[in-house]
Amino acid sequence: MKIYNALTSQLENFKSIHADTVNMYVCGPTVYNYIHIGNARPVIFFDVVRRYFEFQGYTVNFVSNFTDVDDKIITKAISEQEQEITIANRFIEAFYKDVERVGSTTQYLAPRVTEYMSSIIHYIETLINQDYAYTIDGDVYFRVTKIKDYGQLSGRKIDDLIHGSRIDINTKKENPLDFTLWKKTDIGVNYPSPWSDGRPGWHTECVAMIKDIFGGPIDIHGGGSELMFPHHENEIAQSRAIDKHPIANYWMHNGRLNIEGKKMSKSEGQIILVKDLDVDYMGFRLYTLSTHYRSPINYTDDALLSYVNEWDRIKRTYTQAFYKLDLAEYLDNIPQDYSEINTIYQEFMHAMDEDFNTANAITELQNIVKLTNQKVREKDALEPLLAALNVFTAFLQILGLRPGISRMSKADRNIYQEWTHARKNKDFDKADRLREKLTERGILA
Ligand SMILES: [Zn+2]
Repeated sequence: MKIYNALTSQLENFKSIHADTVNMYVCGPTVYNYIHIGNARPVIFFDVVRRYFEFQGYTVNFVSNFTDVDDKIITKAISEQEQEITIANRFIEAFYKDVERVGSTTQYLAPRVTEYMSSIIHYIETLINQDYAYTIDGDVYFRVTKIKDYGQLSGRKIDDLIHGSRIDINTKKENPLDFTLWKKTDIGVNYPSPWSDGRPGWHTECVAMIKDIFGGPIDIHGGGSELMFPHHENEIAQSRAIDKHPIANYWMHNGRLNIEGKKMSKSEGQIILVKDLDVDYMGFRLYTLSTHYRSPINYTDDALLSYVNEWDRIKRTYTQAFYKLDLAEYLDNIPQDYSEINTIYQEFMHAMDEDFNTANAITELQNIVKLTNQKVREKDALEPLLAALNVFTAFLQILGLRPGISRMSKADRNIYQEWTHARKNKDFDKADRLREKLTERGILA
C-alpha cells in the first residue's frame, strides 16, 4: 500500500509502527459554527482511509479533536451572551450530526482541548525547560530558529520566511516566526498556568494531545491542505524539539473544495453549509470521492446534481439485485465462482492501494454496477449475481456509501406472494395496487 507523504513529497510504501494497528490523527474543527461542504471533505476522505485500513485487517485508532477554546468561540460567546462551553457544545452536537449525514462514522476518540489543559501546560513546560520556548509578560513563544529542519513539510526556508514576514507589531518576540504556545488573556474564558491566566495556542494543542493519547509518534497525521503551514509545520517543530522526531510518519492533506473557483469564506460571500444541502448526502459523498483527495474540487450545483443522479442509479441497481436474491432466498449462499468480477475487484483494490485513489476506485464501482445490471436481467444467474453483489457491497462499504436497504420483512414477502397470486388469477386491479406498494419499498423496479 502506497501513501503520498507530504513530509518527504514522495509516494512511500506504508509501514505501520505497530503491526496490524494504524494510529491516526486528523485535525478537527474549531467549534463556533456549522461546518460547510469544504470542511466535510476531510470528514469523508479520512473516514474512507480508516475504512480501507480496516478492510485490510488493521485495527485503526482514529482520533480527531475539537478545538473548544479559541478567540472565535470567545467572540461568539460574548456577542450571544452565552458561555464558551455552551457555544462549543452546541456546535459539537451539530458537527456529529453533519458527520452522520455525510455517511462517516462518529465512533472515534474526539479529545476536547479544555479536557487536556494540564497535558498541554505540561507539554509547554517541557519545551521551556529544554530552552525551545521562552516566556515574556505571561505569554510563551516557541523558538523556531532552534529547529534545523523547520519548513520541511511546506517546503519553505526559514530565511525566506523571515524576509517575507511583515514587521510584527508584537515586538516582544525574539523572532517574527516564533509562534504562541500560551497566550495571556483576560477576555473570555481562561485557565491558570505557571505563566499567566490564559489559554494555549492552537499549534500546541494537537501535538500535546497526540503525545498524551498515543504516548509517542503516530502513523498518519491528516488534515486539509491549508493546515500544512503554519499549523502542521509548527506541530512538527515542537515534536522535533521534544521527541527528536516529527509527531507522525506520514502526513496526508486533502485539497480544497472551492465554489466556482473561489475559496469558501465569509468574505467571498459563498458558503454552503452541510446541513443545508438539500440532496441525498450519499450523492454528495460520491461527488467528493470522485476527485483524487489531493486535487482541488471546484464545486458546482450541476456537478453535485449529476452525482446525486449517479448515486441514484447505483442504488437502484444494488436494490434490484439485492431483492431478486432475497426473494429467491439466495442471499445466504456462498458463491464459488468470482472469475467474471476478479479483474474489477483487483483494479478497485489496486486503485485504493495507490494513495487511496478513490477516483479510479469509483470507475470500478461503475463497472460492477454495469455487470450487476447484466446479471439481474439474466435468467438462472443467481450465483454470478450474488458474486457481483458481494463485491458491490464490499466497494460500497469501503467508500462508506450506504444504499440503506435491508432484507424483506415477513409482511413484504406476504405482499409479494399476494401480488404473484393476483397476477395468476388475472385480478389486475389488485395486482396493480400491490405492485405499487412493492415498488415504493424498492422491491420491484
Ligand atoms: Zn491540528
